[in-house]
Amino acid sequence: MFDVIIAGCGPTGAMLAAELRLHDVRVLVLEKETKPASFVRIVGLHIRSLELMAMRGLLDRLLPHGRRRPAAGFFAAIPKPAPKGLDSAYAYLLGIPQPVIERLLEEHVIELGAQVRRGCAVTGFEQDDEGVTVELADGEQLRSRYLVGCDGGRSTVRKLLGVGFPGEPSRTETLMGEMEVGAPQEEIAAKVTEIRETRQPFWLRPFGEGIYSVVVPAAGVRDRAEPPTLEDFKQQLRTIAGTDFGVHSPRWLSRFGDATRLAERYRVGRVLLAGDAAHIHPPIGGQGLNLGVQDAFNLGWKLAAQIRGWAPETLLDTYQAERRPVAEDVLDNTRAQAELLSAEPGPQAVRRLLTELMDFDEVNRRLIEKITAIGIRYDFGEGPDLLGRRLLDIDVKQGHLYGLLHRGRGLLLDRTERLTVGGWSDRVDYLADPTAVLDVPCVLLRPDGHVAWIGDDQQDLDDHLSRWFGKPAD
Ligand SMILES: Cc1cc2nc3c(=O)[nH]c(=O)nc-3n(C[C@H](O)[C@H](O)[C@H](O)COP(=O)(O)OP(=O)(O)OC[C@H]3O[C@@H](n4cnc5c(N)ncnc54)[C@H](O)[C@@H]3O)c2cc1C
Repeated sequence: MFDVIIAGCGPTGAMLAAELRLHDVRVLVLEKETKPASFVRIVGLHIRSLELMAMRGLLDRLLPHGRRRPAAGFFAAIPKPAPKGLDSAYAYLLGIPQPVIERLLEEHVIELGAQVRRGCAVTGFEQDDEGVTVELADGEQLRSRYLVGCDGGRSTVRKLLGVGFPGEPSRTETLMGEMEVGAPQEEIAAKVTEIRETRQPFWLRPFGEGIYSVVVPAAGVRDRAEPPTLEDFKQQLRTIAGTDFGVHSPRWLSRFGDATRLAERYRVGRVLLAGDAAHIHPPIGGQGLNLGVQDAFNLGWKLAAQIRGWAPETLLDTYQAERRPVAEDVLDNTRAQAELLSAEPGPQAVRRLLTELMDFDEVNRRLIEKITAIGIRYDFGEGPDLLGRRLLDIDVKQGHLYGLLHRGRGLLLDRTERLTVGGWSDRVDYLADPTAVLDVPCVLLRPDGHVAWIGDDQQDLDDHLSRWFGKPAD
C-alpha cells in the first residue's frame, strides 16, 4: 500500500514525487518507458521555476548544465529587451536540455526515497472510499490512497477518469530532429536566415560534432501515431528551402502539434491530474514544462497534508481553484502569440502595433510576468497586493529566505518578534527577524512560497494558520 502513486516520470511527476517525499509520503512513480528519453529538446526554465528550484536547493544542480540568457524576447519572439528592474534574484532564462532536467529530478527523487519503476504503464484503475487500485499493462495490481496522472498530453489517467479535454485540435504540425548534414555550414546559415524572414518555425542549428538540430513545418500528417521518417524531413526541406542540405544519419526524429486543450477538472475523488495531462498548448514562449513543475509545487504539500491528516477540509480542492485559472491564462497567451506569428497581413499589423506598445515598460513587464509566471496572484480574499503573490528571495539574517524553505514547510517571518506559530510548529517554521527587508510587519508563507497572511495580530494569525495548516497539535 502506497500513499500516492504517480503515473509518469516526466518533469511534473518527478517534481511532485520530490515534494511529497519532503513530507515522508510513501510514493511510487510508474513510468511506461524503460529508459529516460533521449529526445533532446532545449527548454527554457523561466524565473518562477528557477525560484522554486532555488527554494528546494535544486538550482545549483541545474545551473552547470544550462545556459543563462536574458529574460527578454519571449512574447511571440518580439525582440524587446527585458523591462527595467525585473524583481527577482533569478531574473534570467535557463536554457537546458529537457532530458537533463528529467535525469536530475529522477536522481533527486530517488535520493529522497521515492520508488521509481520504469517499464510500467498504468492501464487502468478503480477508486473507492479508501483508495485506488491501479492496474499495470502486465496485469499487476497496486494499491494507494491517491493516484496522480502526470502522464502527459495523451494521459491515460485523464481518459479513464472520463474528464473532458476541450479545446482546439492541432492545426499545424512541426517536424523536429537531430541529424548530420552534407552542406557547408555557411551555406546553411545563409539559407536559414533568408527563410526565417518569411517562414517560421524553421531552423537548422549546429549542435556540435557535425550534428544539426532541424525544425521544419510538416506536410499534412495522415497518422499522428506514426513517427516521422528522414524522408519526411528531406521532402519538407526541399519544398521550403529548395534543398535538403544533404541531411542523413538521424539521431532521433519527432513531431509536435499546436493543439490547445484544458482538462475540465483536475480532481475526481482520489485521482488528480497535473502537468501536460491537464493542459496542452503550442510551445510558444516555452511555458509547458514550467507550468507542470509549478502545478507540482502547488499540489505536493496539499496532498501531503491530506495524507498526514492535518489538511483543512477544502485544502486539496484549492489545487484546481488556483492552478486551473493559471493554465487558462497560459493557453490564452499562447493562442495570442500563435496569431502574432502568422504571416498574414492582419496579424502582422497587430504584431507591429504590439511591438510599438512594448516600448511602454508596463506593457513589456506585464507580458514578461505572464510568461515567467512571476505575476501570479492567487485569490486568498481581500488584502494588500502582496497577499497571494510569491515572496521574493529577500535577505534575512540567516542568509537568503529561499535557503530556509528547502524542507517544504510553511514559514512565519516575524519582524515584530512578538508572534508565535504555537501548535503548528510541526508544520510551520518561525523566523524572527526585525531586519528583514519587508514593508509589512509579518508574513506567513505557504510551502510553495506564496504569501498566505500579512499582519501583526496573533489571533488573526492563528485563524490563518488554521485555514492553511489545519488544527494545531495538542
Ligand atoms: C518542441 C517543444 C519545445 C518545448 N519547449 C519548452 C520550453 O522551452 N519550456 C517549457 O516549459 N516547455 C516546453 N515544452 C513543453 C514541455 O516539453 C512539456 O510541457 C513537458 O514535457 C510536460 O511535462 P509532463 O511531465 O507534464 O509530461 P511529459 O513530459 O509528457 O511526461 C509524461 C511522462 O508520462 C509517461 N507516461 C505516459 N503514459 C503513461 C502511462 N500510462 N503510465 C506510466 N507512464 C506514462 C511518459 O512516458 C512520460 O515520461 C516544449 C515542448 C515541445 C514539443
